Amino acid sequence: MRPSVNFVRGLRFRLTVSYLLLFTGLLVAIGFYFRHRLQVQTEGDVRAVLEEVWGEAKGYLRIENQRPIWTADPDDPEDQHIVDRLRYVILLTDANGNVLLDSPTYETIGIDSPAEIRRIMALKEPEVHIRPDASGTPYIIKAGALPGERRDRYFLAIGRSLGDSQRTVASFTRDYLLSLLAIIPLTGLLGWALAGRAIRPVNQVAQAAQKITGSNLSLQIPLRGAGDELDHLIESFNHMTARLQDSFEQIRRFSTDVSHELRTPLTAIRGQLEVALFTAQTPDQYRDAMVNALEDVEQLSSIVRALLLLSQAESGQLALQKTSLELGEVAEDIVDQFQIPAEEKCVRLTANIEPGLRISADRVQLERLFSNLLSNAIKYTPAGGAVQVRVRRDDQRNWARIEIEDSGVGIPEENLPHIFDRFYRVRNPQINRIEGLGLGLSFVAWIVKAHGGQIDVSSKVGVGTRFTVRLPAGPVILKPTNEQETAVEPQRL
Ligand code: ADP
Repeated sequence: MRPSVNFVRGLRFRLTVSYLLLFTGLLVAIGFYFRHRLQVQTEGDVRAVLEEVWGEAKGYLRIENQRPIWTADPDDPEDQHIVDRLRYVILLTDANGNVLLDSPTYETIGIDSPAEIRRIMALKEPEVHIRPDASGTPYIIKAGALPGERRDRYFLAIGRSLGDSQRTVASFTRDYLLSLLAIIPLTGLLGWALAGRAIRPVNQVAQAAQKITGSNLSLQIPLRGAGDELDHLIESFNHMTARLQDSFEQIRRFSTDVSHELRTPLTAIRGQLEVALFTAQTPDQYRDAMVNALEDVEQLSSIVRALLLLSQAESGQLALQKTSLELGEVAEDIVDQFQIPAEEKCVRLTANIEPGLRISADRVQLERLFSNLLSNAIKYTPAGGAVQVRVRRDDQRNWARIEIEDSGVGIPEENLPHIFDRFYRVRNPQINRIEGLGLGLSFVAWIVKAHGGQIDVSSKVGVGTRFTVRLPAGPVILKPTNEQETAVEPQRL
Protein backbone atom coordinates (compact mmCIF):
# COMPACT_ATOMS: atom_id res chain seq x y z
CA MET A 1 0.00 0.00 0.00
CA ARG A 2 1.36 3.40 -0.92
CA PRO A 3 1.66 5.60 2.20
CA SER A 4 -0.10 8.94 1.74
CA VAL A 5 2.26 11.92 1.68
CA ASN A 6 0.95 15.05 3.39
CA PHE A 7 0.60 17.44 0.43
CA VAL A 8 1.71 20.57 2.29
CA ARG A 9 4.65 18.82 3.96
CA GLY A 10 5.60 16.96 0.79
CA LEU A 11 9.00 17.62 -0.72
CA ARG A 12 7.55 18.78 -4.04
CA PHE A 13 5.31 21.40 -2.43
CA ARG A 14 8.06 22.68 -0.16
CA LEU A 15 10.57 22.88 -2.99
CA THR A 16 8.08 24.82 -5.11
CA VAL A 17 7.22 27.22 -2.30
CA SER A 18 10.89 27.86 -1.49
CA TYR A 19 11.64 28.45 -5.16
CA LEU A 20 8.65 30.76 -5.52
CA LEU A 21 9.47 32.78 -2.40
CA LEU A 22 13.06 33.16 -3.45
CA PHE A 23 12.16 34.18 -6.97
CA THR A 24 9.46 36.63 -5.84
CA GLY A 25 11.79 38.17 -3.26
CA LEU A 26 14.45 38.59 -5.92
CA LEU A 27 12.05 40.20 -8.42
CA VAL A 28 10.65 42.59 -5.78
CA ALA A 29 14.16 43.64 -4.77
CA ILE A 30 15.10 44.22 -8.42
CA GLY A 31 11.88 46.24 -8.87
CA PHE A 32 12.66 48.43 -5.86
CA TYR A 33 16.17 49.06 -7.12
CA PHE A 34 15.08 50.18 -10.59
CA ARG A 35 12.20 52.25 -9.21
CA HIS A 36 14.66 54.11 -7.01
CA ARG A 37 17.06 54.60 -9.93
CA LEU A 38 14.21 55.95 -12.07
CA GLN A 39 13.12 58.37 -9.34
CA VAL A 40 16.63 59.69 -8.83
CA GLN A 41 17.12 60.03 -12.59
CA THR A 42 13.85 61.91 -13.35
CA GLU A 43 14.20 64.16 -10.29
CA GLY A 44 17.77 64.89 -11.34
CA ASP A 45 16.52 66.00 -14.78
CA VAL A 46 13.99 68.40 -13.18
CA ARG A 47 16.67 69.84 -10.89
CA ALA A 48 18.93 70.41 -13.90
CA VAL A 49 16.15 72.32 -15.71
CA LEU A 50 15.49 74.34 -12.53
CA GLU A 51 19.15 75.36 -12.35
CA GLU A 52 18.95 76.44 -15.99
CA VAL A 53 15.80 78.48 -15.36
CA TRP A 54 17.34 80.07 -12.25
CA GLY A 55 20.29 81.27 -14.37
CA GLU A 56 17.95 82.60 -17.07
CA ALA A 57 15.89 84.50 -14.46
CA LYS A 58 18.95 86.50 -13.48
CA GLY A 59 19.51 87.42 -17.12
CA TYR A 60 15.97 88.28 -18.16
CA LEU A 61 14.53 89.93 -15.01
CA ARG A 62 15.29 93.46 -13.92
CA ILE A 63 13.57 95.40 -11.14
CA GLU A 64 13.08 99.11 -11.43
CA ASN A 65 11.11 101.18 -8.90
CA GLN A 66 9.79 98.03 -7.27
CA ARG A 67 8.53 96.81 -10.64
CA PRO A 68 9.74 93.65 -12.43
CA ILE A 69 10.77 94.16 -16.04
CA TRP A 70 11.38 91.34 -18.51
CA THR A 71 14.24 92.16 -20.84
CA ALA A 72 13.37 89.59 -23.50
CA ASP A 73 13.00 90.63 -27.13
CA PRO A 74 9.23 90.46 -27.84
CA ASP A 75 9.94 89.54 -31.48
CA ASP A 76 12.23 86.64 -30.59
CA PRO A 77 10.10 83.48 -30.08
CA GLU A 78 12.97 81.73 -28.29
CA ASP A 79 13.26 84.60 -25.75
CA GLN A 80 9.50 84.48 -25.31
CA HIS A 81 9.61 80.75 -24.67
CA ILE A 82 12.30 81.20 -22.00
CA VAL A 83 10.32 83.92 -20.25
CA ASP A 84 7.11 81.86 -20.39
CA ARG A 85 8.96 78.96 -18.83
CA LEU A 86 10.24 81.33 -16.12
CA ARG A 87 6.90 82.81 -15.30
CA TYR A 88 5.12 79.50 -14.84
CA VAL A 89 6.07 79.02 -11.16
CA ILE A 90 7.54 82.25 -9.82
CA LEU A 91 7.40 84.52 -6.80
CA LEU A 92 9.16 87.89 -6.51
CA THR A 93 8.91 89.97 -3.33
CA ASP A 94 10.85 92.80 -1.76
CA ALA A 95 12.90 92.20 1.37
CA ASN A 96 9.81 92.67 3.54
CA GLY A 97 7.76 90.05 1.74
CA ASN A 98 5.59 92.41 -0.32
CA VAL A 99 4.69 90.49 -3.48
CA LEU A 100 5.91 92.18 -6.68
CA LEU A 101 5.20 89.29 -9.01
CA ASP A 102 3.69 85.83 -8.64
CA SER A 103 2.15 83.13 -10.77
CA PRO A 104 -1.18 81.42 -10.07
CA THR A 105 0.62 78.09 -9.72
CA TYR A 106 2.88 79.53 -7.03
CA GLU A 107 -0.17 80.74 -5.16
CA THR A 108 -1.52 77.18 -4.99
CA ILE A 109 1.84 76.13 -3.51
CA GLY A 110 1.55 78.97 -0.97
CA ILE A 111 3.25 82.36 -0.77
CA ASP A 112 6.17 82.31 1.66
CA SER A 113 5.70 84.25 4.91
CA PRO A 114 7.85 87.40 5.45
CA ALA A 115 9.74 85.59 8.20
CA GLU A 116 10.51 82.69 5.89
CA ILE A 117 11.58 85.15 3.17
CA ARG A 118 13.93 86.92 5.58
CA ARG A 119 15.40 83.59 6.71
CA ILE A 120 16.12 82.49 3.13
CA MET A 121 17.53 85.91 2.15
CA ALA A 122 19.93 85.71 5.08
CA LEU A 123 21.45 82.52 3.60
CA LYS A 124 24.62 82.76 1.56
CA GLU A 125 23.40 80.43 -1.16
CA PRO A 126 19.87 79.93 -2.57
CA GLU A 127 17.88 77.11 -0.95
CA VAL A 128 16.22 74.22 -2.80
CA HIS A 129 13.23 72.47 -1.26
CA ILE A 130 10.18 70.45 -2.28
CA ARG A 131 6.60 71.53 -1.52
CA PRO A 132 3.25 70.21 -2.73
CA ASP A 133 0.57 72.34 -4.32
CA ALA A 134 -3.08 72.28 -3.29
CA SER A 135 -3.70 69.11 -5.33
CA GLY A 136 -0.71 67.34 -3.76
CA THR A 137 1.63 67.55 -6.79
CA PRO A 138 5.14 68.15 -5.49
CA TYR A 139 7.15 71.13 -6.76
CA ILE A 140 10.86 71.60 -6.45
CA ILE A 141 11.57 75.23 -5.57
CA LYS A 142 14.77 77.21 -5.64
CA ALA A 143 14.59 80.43 -3.57
CA GLY A 144 17.15 83.08 -2.71
CA ALA A 145 18.07 86.77 -2.72
CA LEU A 146 18.28 88.75 -5.98
CA PRO A 147 20.36 91.96 -5.99
CA GLY A 148 18.38 95.02 -7.23
CA GLU A 149 19.04 98.71 -7.94
CA ARG A 150 20.57 100.96 -5.25
CA ARG A 151 21.57 98.12 -3.04
CA ASP A 152 17.97 96.96 -2.72
CA ARG A 153 17.61 93.23 -2.43
CA TYR A 154 14.63 91.13 -3.57
CA PHE A 155 13.41 87.60 -2.90
CA LEU A 156 13.04 85.32 -5.91
CA ALA A 157 11.59 81.81 -5.88
CA ILE A 158 11.27 79.66 -9.01
CA GLY A 159 9.76 76.19 -9.14
CA ARG A 160 9.36 73.19 -11.41
CA SER A 161 6.75 70.50 -11.09
CA LEU A 162 7.85 67.01 -10.07
CA GLY A 163 4.46 65.70 -11.25
CA ASP A 164 5.83 64.19 -14.47
CA SER A 165 8.65 62.47 -12.64
CA GLN A 166 6.20 61.14 -10.09
CA ARG A 167 3.87 59.91 -12.80
CA THR A 168 6.70 58.14 -14.65
CA VAL A 169 7.75 56.34 -11.44
CA ALA A 170 4.14 55.45 -10.60
CA SER A 171 3.50 54.09 -14.07
CA PHE A 172 6.71 52.04 -13.95
CA THR A 173 5.67 50.65 -10.53
CA ARG A 174 2.20 49.75 -11.77
CA ASP A 175 3.47 48.04 -14.94
CA TYR A 176 6.11 46.16 -12.97
CA LEU A 177 3.60 44.93 -10.39
CA LEU A 178 1.22 43.83 -13.14
CA SER A 179 3.96 41.86 -14.86
CA LEU A 180 4.88 40.32 -11.49
CA LEU A 181 1.30 39.17 -11.09
CA ALA A 182 1.61 37.38 -14.41
CA ILE A 183 5.15 36.05 -13.86
CA ILE A 184 4.72 34.67 -10.32
CA PRO A 185 1.98 32.11 -11.11
CA LEU A 186 3.96 31.02 -14.19
CA THR A 187 7.07 30.66 -12.02
CA GLY A 188 5.04 28.64 -9.53
CA LEU A 189 3.95 26.27 -12.31
CA LEU A 190 7.51 25.99 -13.59
CA GLY A 191 8.79 25.35 -10.04
CA TRP A 192 6.13 22.68 -9.53
CA ALA A 193 7.14 20.96 -12.78
CA LEU A 194 10.87 21.17 -11.98
CA ALA A 195 10.38 19.92 -8.41
CA GLY A 196 8.27 17.05 -9.75
CA ARG A 197 11.03 16.15 -12.19
CA ALA A 198 13.68 16.36 -9.45
CA ILE A 199 11.87 14.06 -7.04
CA ARG A 200 10.57 11.59 -9.59
CA PRO A 201 13.53 9.23 -9.01
CA VAL A 202 12.90 9.45 -5.26
CA ASN A 203 9.33 8.32 -5.86
CA GLN A 204 10.62 5.53 -8.10
CA VAL A 205 12.91 4.38 -5.31
CA ALA A 206 9.99 4.49 -2.88
CA GLN A 207 7.75 2.50 -5.23
CA ALA A 208 10.45 -0.06 -5.91
CA ALA A 209 11.11 -0.37 -2.17
CA GLN A 210 7.42 -1.08 -1.60
CA LYS A 211 7.49 -3.90 -4.12
CA ILE A 212 10.34 -5.61 -2.30
CA THR A 213 9.35 -8.46 -0.06
CA GLY A 214 11.28 -11.37 1.40
CA SER A 215 10.69 -13.33 -1.81
CA ASN A 216 11.84 -10.80 -4.43
CA LEU A 217 14.83 -9.16 -2.81
CA SER A 218 16.71 -9.55 -6.08
CA LEU A 219 14.79 -6.53 -7.40
CA GLN A 220 17.17 -3.75 -8.39
CA ILE A 221 16.31 -0.15 -9.19
CA PRO A 222 17.86 0.82 -12.53
CA LEU A 223 20.53 3.53 -12.32
CA ARG A 224 19.72 6.76 -14.21
CA GLY A 225 23.33 7.21 -15.35
CA ALA A 226 23.39 10.84 -14.19
CA GLY A 227 26.13 10.12 -11.66
CA ASP A 228 24.43 12.42 -9.16
CA GLU A 229 23.37 12.07 -5.52
CA LEU A 230 20.23 10.23 -6.53
CA ASP A 231 22.21 7.64 -8.46
CA HIS A 232 24.38 7.30 -5.37
CA LEU A 233 21.23 6.77 -3.27
CA ILE A 234 19.91 4.17 -5.73
CA GLU A 235 23.28 2.40 -5.67
CA SER A 236 23.31 2.30 -1.87
CA PHE A 237 19.74 1.06 -1.90
CA ASN A 238 20.61 -1.72 -4.37
CA HIS A 239 23.59 -2.75 -2.24
CA MET A 240 21.36 -2.80 0.81
CA THR A 241 18.81 -5.09 -0.86
CA ALA A 242 21.64 -7.35 -2.06
CA ARG A 243 22.94 -7.60 1.52
CA LEU A 244 19.42 -8.21 2.78
CA GLN A 245 19.00 -10.92 0.18
CA ASP A 246 22.17 -12.61 1.45
CA SER A 247 20.90 -12.47 5.02
CA PHE A 248 17.45 -13.74 4.05
CA GLU A 249 19.06 -16.55 2.08
CA GLN A 250 21.22 -17.46 5.07
CA ILE A 251 18.21 -17.47 7.39
CA ARG A 252 16.20 -19.57 4.94
CA ARG A 253 19.02 -22.07 4.57
CA PHE A 254 19.54 -22.09 8.30
CA SER A 255 15.91 -22.88 9.10
CA THR A 256 15.84 -25.62 6.46
CA ASP A 257 19.05 -27.08 7.91
CA VAL A 258 17.76 -26.85 11.48
CA SER A 259 14.49 -28.58 10.70
CA HIS A 260 16.32 -31.25 8.73
CA GLU A 261 18.88 -31.83 11.51
CA LEU A 262 16.20 -31.97 14.19
CA ARG A 263 13.96 -34.26 12.18
CA THR A 264 16.59 -37.05 11.96
CA PRO A 265 16.95 -37.73 15.73
CA LEU A 266 13.23 -37.05 16.25
CA THR A 267 12.30 -39.70 13.68
CA ALA A 268 14.73 -42.10 15.31
CA ILE A 269 13.25 -41.46 18.77
CA ARG A 270 9.76 -41.94 17.43
CA GLY A 271 10.77 -45.22 15.75
CA GLN A 272 12.38 -46.54 18.90
CA LEU A 273 9.38 -45.65 21.04
CA GLU A 274 7.00 -47.26 18.53
CA VAL A 275 9.11 -50.41 18.53
CA ALA A 276 9.01 -50.43 22.33
CA LEU A 277 5.25 -49.90 22.34
CA PHE A 278 4.27 -52.43 19.70
CA THR A 279 6.94 -55.13 19.70
CA ALA A 280 8.90 -55.13 22.98
CA GLN A 281 7.82 -57.74 25.45
CA THR A 282 10.61 -58.26 27.93
CA PRO A 283 11.93 -55.57 30.29
CA ASP A 284 15.32 -55.82 28.54
CA GLN A 285 13.76 -54.97 25.17
CA TYR A 286 12.02 -51.97 26.75
CA ARG A 287 15.31 -50.90 28.35
CA ASP A 288 17.19 -51.13 25.05
CA ALA A 289 14.57 -49.02 23.30
CA MET A 290 14.69 -46.44 26.09
CA VAL A 291 18.51 -46.28 26.07
CA ASN A 292 18.54 -45.76 22.29
CA ALA A 293 15.86 -43.10 22.54
CA LEU A 294 17.80 -41.33 25.32
CA GLU A 295 20.95 -41.29 23.18
CA ASP A 296 19.02 -39.57 20.41
CA VAL A 297 17.48 -37.14 22.90
CA GLU A 298 21.02 -36.36 24.04
CA GLN A 299 22.03 -35.66 20.43
CA LEU A 300 18.96 -33.45 20.03
CA SER A 301 19.80 -31.40 23.09
CA SER A 302 23.42 -30.98 22.03
CA ILE A 303 22.23 -29.68 18.64
CA VAL A 304 19.89 -27.24 20.37
CA ARG A 305 22.65 -26.14 22.80
CA ALA A 306 25.12 -25.57 20.00
CA LEU A 307 22.53 -23.70 17.93
CA LEU A 308 21.63 -21.50 20.85
CA LEU A 309 25.26 -20.64 21.46
CA LEU A 310 25.84 -19.92 17.79
CA SER A 311 22.78 -17.72 17.46
CA GLN A 312 23.75 -15.84 20.64
CA ALA A 313 27.21 -15.33 19.18
CA GLU A 314 25.98 -14.15 15.80
CA SER A 315 23.33 -11.84 17.22
CA GLY A 316 25.94 -10.15 19.37
CA GLN A 317 24.59 -11.37 22.71
CA LEU A 318 27.76 -13.26 23.46
CA ALA A 319 30.03 -10.40 24.45
CA LEU A 320 33.75 -11.11 24.46
CA GLN A 321 35.52 -10.79 27.83
CA LYS A 322 38.94 -9.88 26.55
CA THR A 323 41.99 -10.10 28.79
CA SER A 324 45.67 -10.17 28.08
CA LEU A 325 46.60 -13.84 27.64
CA GLU A 326 49.74 -15.78 27.05
CA LEU A 327 48.68 -17.68 23.93
CA GLY A 328 51.22 -20.48 24.42
CA GLU A 329 49.87 -21.31 27.90
CA VAL A 330 46.30 -21.60 26.66
CA ALA A 331 47.44 -23.81 23.77
CA GLU A 332 49.51 -26.05 26.05
CA ASP A 333 46.59 -26.56 28.46
CA ILE A 334 44.29 -27.64 25.66
CA VAL A 335 46.89 -29.89 24.05
CA ASP A 336 47.35 -31.59 27.44
CA GLN A 337 43.60 -32.14 27.72
CA PHE A 338 43.52 -33.79 24.29
CA GLN A 339 46.45 -36.15 24.90
CA ILE A 340 44.19 -38.91 26.31
CA PRO A 341 41.58 -38.86 23.49
CA ALA A 342 44.47 -38.80 21.00
CA GLU A 343 46.16 -41.77 22.63
CA GLU A 344 42.85 -43.65 22.69
CA LYS A 345 42.67 -43.20 18.89
CA CYS A 346 46.37 -43.99 18.50
CA VAL A 347 47.06 -40.53 17.06
CA ARG A 348 50.33 -38.79 17.99
CA LEU A 349 49.61 -35.27 19.26
CA THR A 350 52.60 -32.89 19.46
CA ALA A 351 52.96 -29.17 20.05
CA ASN A 352 55.55 -26.62 19.02
CA ILE A 353 54.82 -23.44 20.96
CA GLU A 354 56.75 -20.16 20.96
CA PRO A 355 56.65 -18.76 24.50
CA GLY A 356 55.91 -15.19 25.51
CA LEU A 357 53.30 -14.40 22.85
CA ARG A 358 50.60 -12.24 24.41
CA ILE A 359 47.28 -11.49 22.81
CA SER A 360 44.16 -9.75 23.99
CA ALA A 361 41.40 -12.37 23.80
CA ASP A 362 38.46 -14.02 25.52
CA ARG A 363 39.94 -17.08 27.25
CA VAL A 364 36.78 -19.20 27.10
CA GLN A 365 36.29 -18.57 23.37
CA LEU A 366 39.97 -19.07 22.62
CA GLU A 367 39.86 -22.45 24.40
CA ARG A 368 36.72 -23.30 22.41
CA LEU A 369 38.58 -22.44 19.19
CA PHE A 370 41.48 -24.76 20.05
CA SER A 371 39.11 -27.52 21.25
CA ASN A 372 37.00 -27.50 18.10
CA LEU A 373 39.98 -27.51 15.76
CA LEU A 374 41.88 -30.13 17.77
CA SER A 375 38.92 -32.46 18.23
CA ASN A 376 38.25 -32.29 14.48
CA ALA A 377 41.91 -33.00 13.72
CA ILE A 378 41.89 -36.08 15.98
CA LYS A 379 38.42 -37.14 14.84
CA TYR A 380 39.27 -37.07 11.14
CA THR A 381 42.72 -38.67 11.49
CA PRO A 382 42.85 -42.47 11.36
CA ALA A 383 44.87 -44.48 13.86
CA GLY A 384 48.62 -44.14 13.39
CA GLY A 385 48.34 -40.57 12.16
CA ALA A 386 49.71 -37.40 13.71
CA VAL A 387 48.38 -34.02 14.76
CA GLN A 388 50.66 -31.08 15.30
CA VAL A 389 49.88 -27.77 16.99
CA ARG A 390 52.14 -24.79 16.26
CA VAL A 391 51.90 -21.38 17.91
CA ARG A 392 54.26 -18.60 16.89
CA ARG A 393 54.54 -14.95 15.96
CA ASP A 394 53.41 -14.39 12.38
CA ASP A 395 55.76 -13.00 9.72
CA GLN A 396 53.70 -9.85 10.06
CA ARG A 397 55.07 -9.03 13.52
CA ASN A 398 51.92 -7.90 15.26
CA TRP A 399 49.92 -11.01 14.46
CA ALA A 400 49.97 -14.34 16.25
CA ARG A 401 49.73 -17.51 14.17
CA ILE A 402 48.15 -20.78 15.23
CA GLU A 403 48.45 -23.84 13.01
CA ILE A 404 46.72 -27.16 13.60
CA GLU A 405 47.85 -29.75 11.11
CA ASP A 406 46.82 -33.36 10.82
CA SER A 407 47.66 -36.31 8.59
CA GLY A 408 44.00 -37.29 8.33
CA VAL A 409 41.47 -37.97 5.61
CA GLY A 410 41.65 -34.44 4.17
CA ILE A 411 38.84 -32.41 2.66
CA PRO A 412 38.04 -32.53 -1.08
CA GLU A 413 38.70 -29.22 -2.80
CA GLU A 414 35.07 -28.71 -3.83
CA ASN A 415 33.96 -28.95 -0.19
CA LEU A 416 36.52 -26.51 1.19
CA PRO A 417 34.50 -23.31 0.54
CA HIS A 418 31.57 -24.67 2.56
CA ILE A 419 33.11 -26.19 5.66
CA PHE A 420 32.49 -23.04 7.75
CA ASP A 421 28.77 -23.09 6.91
CA ARG A 422 26.33 -24.21 9.55
CA PHE A 423 25.47 -27.93 9.48
CA TYR A 424 27.83 -28.50 6.59
CA ARG A 425 29.47 -31.89 6.71
CA VAL A 426 31.50 -33.56 4.01
CA ARG A 427 29.51 -36.50 2.70
CA ASN A 428 32.06 -39.23 2.28
CA PRO A 429 31.69 -42.97 2.97
CA GLN A 430 35.03 -42.91 4.75
CA ILE A 431 33.84 -40.45 7.39
CA ASN A 432 30.11 -41.00 7.37
CA ARG A 433 30.36 -42.98 10.56
CA ILE A 434 32.13 -40.15 12.35
CA GLU A 435 29.67 -38.24 14.49
CA GLY A 436 29.29 -34.51 14.33
CA LEU A 437 26.79 -31.71 13.98
CA GLY A 438 28.54 -29.59 11.37
CA LEU A 439 28.50 -26.59 13.71
CA GLY A 440 32.01 -26.61 15.20
CA LEU A 441 33.77 -24.78 12.36
CA SER A 442 30.96 -22.16 12.12
CA PHE A 443 31.65 -21.34 15.72
CA VAL A 444 35.42 -21.25 15.17
CA ALA A 445 34.86 -18.83 12.27
CA TRP A 446 32.75 -16.58 14.50
CA ILE A 447 35.39 -16.58 17.28
CA VAL A 448 38.16 -15.65 14.82
CA LYS A 449 36.05 -12.89 13.29
CA ALA A 450 35.04 -11.52 16.71
CA HIS A 451 38.73 -11.22 17.60
CA GLY A 452 39.50 -9.40 14.34
CA GLY A 453 41.50 -12.35 12.98
CA GLN A 454 41.58 -14.56 9.87
CA ILE A 455 41.23 -18.28 9.30
CA ASP A 456 42.49 -20.30 6.35
CA VAL A 457 42.40 -23.94 5.50
CA SER A 458 44.46 -26.04 3.14
CA SER A 459 43.87 -29.69 2.65
CA LYS A 460 44.67 -32.67 0.46
CA VAL A 461 42.53 -35.77 0.41
CA GLY A 462 44.41 -38.70 1.96
CA VAL A 463 47.31 -36.49 3.06
CA GLY A 464 45.90 -34.19 5.72
CA THR A 465 44.51 -30.81 6.61
CA ARG A 466 45.99 -27.62 8.02
CA PHE A 467 43.96 -24.87 9.67
CA THR A 468 45.80 -21.54 10.07
CA VAL A 469 44.40 -18.91 12.41
CA ARG A 470 45.92 -15.44 12.60
CA LEU A 471 44.98 -13.19 15.50
CA PRO A 472 46.08 -9.63 16.22
CA ALA A 473 48.77 -9.79 18.91
CA GLY A 474 49.68 -7.33 21.63
CA PRO A 475 53.14 -5.78 22.11
CA VAL A 476 56.08 -8.15 21.74
CA ILE A 477 56.83 -9.59 25.15
CA LEU A 478 60.36 -10.80 25.57
CA LYS A 479 60.73 -13.16 28.46
CA PRO A 480 64.36 -13.09 29.60
CA THR A 481 65.68 -15.88 31.80
CA ASN A 482 65.15 -13.85 34.98
CA GLU A 483 61.38 -14.03 34.19
CA GLN A 484 61.03 -10.27 33.92
CA GLU A 485 58.73 -9.06 31.14
CA THR A 486 59.78 -6.26 28.84
CA ALA A 487 57.22 -4.72 26.53
CA VAL A 488 58.33 -3.57 23.11
CA GLU A 489 55.91 -1.59 20.92
CA PRO A 490 54.75 -3.57 17.86
CA GLN A 491 56.06 -2.47 14.50
CA ARG A 492 53.42 -0.57 12.62
CA LEU A 493 52.34 -2.03 9.33
P1 ADP B 1 31.59 -31.67 12.54
O1 ADP B 1 30.81 -31.66 13.78
O2 ADP B 1 30.95 -32.41 11.43
O3 ADP B 1 33.01 -32.00 12.73
P2 ADP B 1 32.58 -29.06 11.84
O4 ADP B 1 31.86 -27.81 11.55
O5 ADP B 1 33.56 -29.06 12.91
O6 ADP B 1 31.49 -30.16 12.03
O7 ADP B 1 33.30 -29.47 10.50
C1 ADP B 1 32.61 -29.43 9.27
C2 ADP B 1 33.14 -30.48 8.30
O8 ADP B 1 34.45 -30.17 7.88
C3 ADP B 1 33.27 -31.84 8.93
O9 ADP B 1 32.06 -32.55 8.85
C4 ADP B 1 34.34 -32.48 8.13
O10 ADP B 1 33.80 -33.06 6.98
C5 ADP B 1 35.21 -31.36 7.72
N1 ADP B 1 36.41 -31.24 8.59
C6 ADP B 1 36.60 -30.39 9.60
N2 ADP B 1 37.84 -30.54 10.15
C7 ADP B 1 38.44 -31.51 9.44
C8 ADP B 1 39.72 -32.13 9.48
N3 ADP B 1 40.65 -31.78 10.36
N4 ADP B 1 40.00 -33.10 8.56
C9 ADP B 1 39.09 -33.44 7.64
N5 ADP B 1 37.86 -32.93 7.54
C10 ADP B 1 37.53 -31.96 8.43
